[in-house]
Amino acid sequence: MSCVPPGSGWPGDPALPDTPVARDPAEVRRLAEASRTLGELTARQSVCRACPRLVEWRETVAEVKRRAFVQETYWGRPIAGWGEDRPEVLIVGLAPAAHGGNRTGRIFTGDRSGDWLFASLHRTGLAEKETSVHAGDGQRLVGARMLAAVRCAPPANRPEPRERAACLPWLSREVALVAESVRVVVALGGFAWQAIWPALKEAGYVLPRPRPIFGHGAEAEIFREGGSAHLLGCYHPSQQNTFTGRVTARMLDDVFTRANVLRQV
Ligand code: SF4
Repeated sequence: MSCVPPGSGWPGDPALPDTPVARDPAEVRRLAEASRTLGELTARQSVCRACPRLVEWRETVAEVKRRAFVQETYWGRPIAGWGEDRPEVLIVGLAPAAHGGNRTGRIFTGDRSGDWLFASLHRTGLAEKETSVHAGDGQRLVGARMLAAVRCAPPANRPEPRERAACLPWLSREVALVAESVRVVVALGGFAWQAIWPALKEAGYVLPRPRPIFGHGAEAEIFREGGSAHLLGCYHPSQQNTFTGRVTARMLDDVFTRANVLRQV
């Protein structure tokens, strides 16, 4: 099994060889809650080994590789949050793809879903370039930050409930550290919509009851001391969704255009 050693020169690697490593869910919570800055938090996220099944999967994929990428070094580690430190728009996916984020080290980078997503973000002014292909490609999010609810690529793209629970403190702490500036949270897909609620609660938001149902363009206002934000639902730009026309470029643009309106409210 293999992964990129922390601090070995990978572009944007937030960790160093002495970054503390969480080896079980209790350590994830302790290290996440003790992280005072995004830099400290993302470094710790990126070396986590708390879920044995996911650690084995992500590192085996990184070693075996897909034929098209056999010459490449795979990241093979958890995918840390990425983007601006004071974002107004937070974009949340469920988990990285085995040969996408797990290969490139950046969420929604190097796969077809990311191609659709970044093209839309670029058209709506939230990303500097229309593609995101690898960690050193010069791509930049504009007023936005992107993260995954579960940081490691799962088999069949399906993390288990205990793995979602184990990873929650990384998500909650990241949401809390950027809450002051965030005006809009976009959940990509129903699983991300479900996963973000407990993180928002842990980050101090008061959530609506009953919880709004996920849908493309679904909206909910959420409140915390000193401010409020809007949660927006967006169908996931998965290959299945884009191929069948369930999600179109126009539909993605509509959601991110709406996010741009709401970030100024
Ligand atoms: S899924 Fe989250 S908690 Fe589990 S090993 Fe990966 S980063 Fe750690």
